[in-house]
Amino acid sequence: MRKPLIAGNWKMNGSLELLETMKQALTSAQISSSVDVAIIPPFTLLMSAKEVLAGSSTGLGAQTLHPESSGAYTGEISASMLTECGVGYVLVGHSERRTLFAEDDQAVLARVRAALGAGLTPVLCIGETLEEREADRVETVVLGQVKTVIDALSAEERSRLVMAYEPVWAIGTGRTATPEQAQQVHAMIRSWLSDKDPALGEGMRLLYGGSMKADNAGDLLSQPDIDGGLIGGASLKPDDFIAICHAAG
Ligand code: PEP
Repeated sequence: MRKPLIAGNWKMNGSLELLETMKQALTSAQISSSVDVAIIPPFTLLMSAKEVLAGSSTGLGAQTLHPESSGAYTGEISASMLTECGVGYVLVGHSERRTLFAEDDQAVLARVRAALGAGLTPVLCIGETLEEREADRVETVVLGQVKTVIDALSAEERSRLVMAYEPVWAIGTGRTATPEQAQQVHAMIRSWLSDKDPALGEGMRLLYGGSMKADNAGDLLSQPDIDGGLIGGASLKPDDFIAICHAAG
């Protein structure tokens, strides 16, 4: 049985005030212990989040990391710095990083390795653009992104990954993949992973991300190969985020 994970990617949004409000809302919501919940605020809020969330079951994630452990990389943050902030998850390969910050598959792999080396759980984001979908290239693009990482890792390392399928055309656009479209891609990824190693396919948590909201989460999360959600916009609204968490439990 795969335990669902609902993770809220705040992107370059949020404040100390939102952190406190979210913590209080999550505590009073009494979300089922059968769901893992994490918030992924900007770097500047991580240390405060570590304190605010101490003793709660809400996990903490970071939005990216640098592959090197230290050095002359002005403005960057390493994996060990994240662990000091109490971070457990780290997004890697989010489409905004791939597009706006030119992170290619090799850069993504280097970050996955750095995260695993520090004991963090990388949430590997993959997904096709609208142009690629319309050119019938979903399988080639998505499995290409998966393969670059999976083929480079040991069986033990692979088992510590989480993946998030995020069709780029659905991120922040209000245009969600239908449950059937999402399930189709998730099933394809899981089948590829199972061919590689049945235990890997069975155990991998595959999240869906892309305009998941309170009113569509139930249908998406009830698909057999969707094991949770990576939530952007709706994770900034405590009531919506909590409704999504409840839909997963
Ligand atoms: C995301 O940024 O990972 C995301 C899924 O955003 P949104 O939910 O706003 O589409």
